[in-house]
Order: sequence, then C-alpha cells, then structure tokens
Amino acid sequence: MKNIAILGSTGSIGKSALQVVEKYPERFRVVALAACKNHELLLEQIKRFKPEVAALSDPEAARALSGKTVVPVLSGEEGLMKAATYEGASFVVSAIVGFAGLAPTLAAIRAGKDIGLANKEALVTAGDLVMSEAGRYGVKVLPVDSEHSAVFQCLNGNGGDFRGDIILTASGGPFLGKRAEELEGVTAGEAINHPNWRMGRKISVDSATLMNKGLEVIEAHHLFNLPPERIKVLVHPQSIVHSMVEFPDGSIIAQMSVPDMKAPIAYALSWPERLPGVIPRLDLTRFDGLSFSKPDTGAFPCLLYAYRALREGGTMPAVLNAANEAAVGAFLAGEIGFNDIPAIIKETMALHARRDLIEEKSVIEADSGARKSSSELIGKIRDKRRKIF
Ligand code: MG
Repeated sequence: MKNIAILGSTGSIGKSALQVVEKYPERFRVVALAACKNHELLLEQIKRFKPEVAALSDPEAARALSGKTVVPVLSGEEGLMKAATYEGASFVVSAIVGFAGLAPTLAAIRAGKDIGLANKEALVTAGDLVMSEAGRYGVKVLPVDSEHSAVFQCLNGNGGDFRGDIILTASGGPFLGKRAEELEGVTAGEAINHPNWRMGRKISVDSATLMNKGLEVIEAHHLFNLPPERIKVLVHPQSIVHSMVEFPDGSIIAQMSVPDMKAPIAYALSWPERLPGVIPRLDLTRFDGLSFSKPDTGAFPCLLYAYRALREGGTMPAVLNAANEAAVGAFLAGEIGFNDIPAIIKETMALHARRDLIEEKSVIEADSGARKSSSELIGKIRDKRRKIF
C-alpha cells in the first residue's frame, strides 16, 4: 500500500490523480489532501477518500471547511507545508500551479517523500536546488508532466550515461498556424480552449503561447541533466507522441498513447510497474498521419525566451517564470492582449540583473522583483488601453 498526499487536489491534475487512486484502492491510499480555496470540492473529496488530514492555503476557505468535517483541516501556508510533510505519507503528488508549488515541494523532499512532480515551476525556478536536495535526501522525483514521463519511459534502462538528444513534442495549442498580427485580438476564452488536452486555465494559456514548452525545456534540463542544445522541440498537433529520445546511433524511441493525464500520473504512482485499464487504448488506425514541424518562434517567441533564460541560468529562469505568471494572470483578467504576454516577459528579463542562485532566498527575491517589474509594465498597458477604449 502506498500512502499518498496530493497537493493541489481540486485542480485538473489532482482530480485525475484521485481517479487513478480510486481505480486501484488496494494499492493506493490518500492520507492528505491539500488545495488552495475550493472548499466545496475538497469536502466532497474528503467524504470519498477519507484522508487523515486536509489543508486549504486560503484561511477563510479553511474556516468554511473545518465546521463540516471531522477530518482535521490545516490552514494557510503553514497548513500546506504540514500536508506536504505529513508523516503518514511516503509519496507526494505535487500539483499546485505556479511558483506557489516550490516551497511545499522542497519541504516534502526534505521530509524524505518521493515526489510525483506535476508542478514544473518548482524545477523552472529552482531546479538545481530541488534536484540537489532530492539527491541529498535520497528521494525520487518522478515526472508527471506527460512529455517528461514520455522521456523517462523511453530512457528506462538506457539512462545514466545517455548521450543523445531528447525531442519534446508540443501540440501547438489553439492558435497553431496563426501569424503574430492575427494573435493581437484573441481572447482568454479562445486561448484556454485547447484542441487535445483538458487542463487548467494557466497551463492552457501557456500552451497557447508556447511558454509551456519553454518551461518544459527547463524542466527537462533539470530532470535529465541535459544541456539546452540537446533538448529539441517539435510541434505535433495530434498529441499522440508525447515525446521522444534520439540515441547517438540515429534511433529514435517515442512514447505514444491517447492524450490523457491519468497515464503519466499512474506511471509516476506505480513505477516501475504499469497499471492496466487507467486510460483507453490508442487506435492508431483513426489517424491519417502523425505530423511534426518546427515551432514558429516568430509568432510565439516565449519559447526562445525560455531557452535564453536557461542559458543565462542563475535567477533568470525564476524571473522568466514570475513575469509569465503575472502576464498570464493579467491576460486571463482581460487587462492585456495575447501578444503583450511575450513583450512583458522579454522586458522583465531585460530589466533584471542576473544573480547566481545559491539558496531559496535568492529565488524568492528574484520572483518578487520580477513580479513588481511585470505589474508596472501591465499597469502601463492597461492605462494605454483605457485611453483607447
Ligand atoms: Mg506537459
């Protein structure tokens, strides 16, 4: 029996993880559930999965929940950290969105928990620290991101002195094929309408800008210890090949399945075993063909900015991430346009004086400094738009 804590249980990944747990009750038991503020859904999950503790990082939501259940409800950031380090759990699914996932992920690692990592921002902002702490505490960081799970699966038994390249696939998102000027007026509603994957709002916008793939390049660098030039990206609109590994002899191994996040989640939970019946079988005869092309970094420059941040290293990836979170938030709120997202990221990176990233403190400083710069830039754009409309 594997005892699991799920951080971010009311989000898209958290809900899928619970579906996997529900399918294999003899293997997995949920002992801790943590979310941000959706107390109604968390209450339903508590009734169904009977965890030993629950946590809501929003104190008001925690108060609302605590009267309705006999399960202890932990509150605030501190409550989240307690859920992340809960002694009854041996495995933590880290599925909180954004930079907010870094601190609980690090805390879980330092408490000796193996990690199923869906929170890519933890590796983007502080990958060296996260991976070195994982080594120090002897814990496994298993990828839940579908691309990294694919690479992990392709490399199984061939890792260690791997000398080839990896090829991350990108669906291209809902605006694939559009030129920069056609993206000017697109709405948040259009951006989150992903053709293949059902995901949360933030990652759906990241997918539309190609920033998601940029963040994944940085994530892959840390997970597989590869330099940026050996991490390639190809657009593959069918989302059937989840990523590939190219060996020095020219052989390419790909991992394929229907696009369903339950597959990489189940693999992280059960590795090295494979669980049948979690996702539907892939019917390859349904496809006329699988296509691959180079990404259009003219219309979608976020991918280039991510490579740049990775090459510069230090605090720069944390700045890239913070600017992106701020800009995506503003775009979802209707305050800025789609093309303002890359512009804000580029400008925020230009304003930042890169430092070496030695400890958590320097990540937090870089993050908050970048958020401040970005929000000033967002404010200027908002004012300009007000004058126009
Ligand atoms: Mg992914």
